[in-house]
Amino acid sequence: MSVTSVSPSTVATRPRLIASLADKKLFIGGRWVPAASGRSFASTDPATGDFLAHLAEGNAVDIDAAVTAARQAFEGPWSKTKPFERQRLLLRLADLVDRDYDEFAMLDTLDMGMPITRSTAGRQRVVGMIRFYAGLATAIHGQTIENSIPGSFLSYTLKEPVGVIGAIIPWNGPLSQAVWKVAPALATGCTLVLKPAEQACLSSVKLAELIEEAGYPAGVFNLVTGAGEAGAALAAHPGVDKIAFTGSTETGQAIVRASAGNLKRLSLELGGKSPDIVFADADMDAAVAGAANAVFINCGQICVAGSRLFVERKIYDEFVHRVADIGRQMKIGSPQDMQTQLGPLASNEQLERVMGFINGGIQAGAHPLTGGAREQTGALAKGCFVQPTVFTGVNDNMAIVKEEIFGPVISALPFDDIDEVIRRGNDSPYGLGAGVWTRDVGKAHRVAAAMRCGSVWVNSYLAIDPAVPFGGYKMSGYGRESGTEHLDHYLNTKSVVLNIG
Ligand code: NAD
Repeated sequence: MSVTSVSPSTVATRPRLIASLADKKLFIGGRWVPAASGRSFASTDPATGDFLAHLAEGNAVDIDAAVTAARQAFEGPWSKTKPFERQRLLLRLADLVDRDYDEFAMLDTLDMGMPITRSTAGRQRVVGMIRFYAGLATAIHGQTIENSIPGSFLSYTLKEPVGVIGAIIPWNGPLSQAVWKVAPALATGCTLVLKPAEQACLSSVKLAELIEEAGYPAGVFNLVTGAGEAGAALAAHPGVDKIAFTGSTETGQAIVRASAGNLKRLSLELGGKSPDIVFADADMDAAVAGAANAVFINCGQICVAGSRLFVERKIYDEFVHRVADIGRQMKIGSPQDMQTQLGPLASNEQLERVMGFINGGIQAGAHPLTGGAREQTGALAKGCFVQPTVFTGVNDNMAIVKEEIFGPVISALPFDDIDEVIRRGNDSPYGLGAGVWTRDVGKAHRVAAAMRCGSVWVNSYLAIDPAVPFGGYKMSGYGRESGTEHLDHYLNTKSVVLNIG
């Protein structure tokens, strides 16, 4: 992100959709307002470097206004809204997102370079997610609890919305990340302030537009675009009751520290360095395709990327060559092209980071079986394109094997037995996901039980559903998104004990 002096007339040359979104500014208390500082920042297309739009750069002043609006809305009638009404509004929002989904897909494609086939394919997941939380809005309930207090006492629990939520999201799946925070907050009767990532805000602005159209009361949902400074102000704000954060582990740690002032509740979905484990008895064709997909999809910008590929030694050579062949044959190109399989990385910073890891790996002695460089053929030279890369000749101590790269880079490691691969797979400060490929059901269950991580996929990878909890162990964070337990993060439990004589 950079503050630029590109003239507003440049905006008019962009698709009308983007121009109209850029005009919208911040959404606070039901009104579209400019940033208090009057500053803006440029959104650019990572495939071409072209300017897309100016967006309002909110800071602590705007965050304060948004939190105040969210608090007023929460203390008004909103938190007492009947479940059917919250459900009706969410279903209306789902219909609107479905109606405009093609625009959303194009916005994420332009803004962060997600191939259009992938952004388009997200429709069912995104719309389904909103409908899933709409369903849960009418299923919130406490318990009656038998107790042993002498006398005659009735005890039961009430579930109440936590209050004002600060939702801070990353750029790698802009729309779905926004919906993953917004829908549970609105289902439970909370109000919120959304701070999208500065690299990819356009779909969040569009979402705010539809939340307004759906008829939510002013202040229930607020949007502040801006840099990390705005996120930090939200995390530290005493008027915020909970932060729902997805992003890097480093930022997650900063949020933990910032939240201490009023002991905010936190849910943190952080980074990962997930093992994908292939045994020699696996369905080879499925495992090869799955292992490539586990990293190359979204150009490797996936928190659960199976970037440590453990392959049983007796099939190692053949397997890694086949994965490398897939990488070599991938069509790299404009994310707007339906044929493109690998788009650009989301920004120049991300390009520098990923190339830093690749070059560091080569210097440390790793061998790129395929890839290992930027893709700079023709028009691609202007964009943030990196070749899909498969490293062999690696060991567990190399930076490319230990650290999250967030790019299309696989480190392929041979192993000899199940205990060894469980130990090495778990030998990471992260614990987000793991893959296991085998035809042996016993082996699959044994590895699934042993992995210290939030999700294990057997004979698949990245199969994610709104009904199935998702989240991390260790430094991949805490709290779960998706599933019924997700709502608990947005609810307080109040115990009521009645002496009924
Ligand atoms: P990031 O942590 O740099 O930024 C995430 C968000 O935090 C952005 O909106 C940013 O503006 C904001 N932010 C920055 N500094 C802040 C501060 N001090 N206080 C509060 N907010 C601040 O992460 P990123 O580079 O946008 O995203 C990539 C990371 O996100 C990767 O590590 C990836 O693994 C992780 N991620 C995790 C999941 C998951 O579900 N576990 C999903 C997607 C991405």
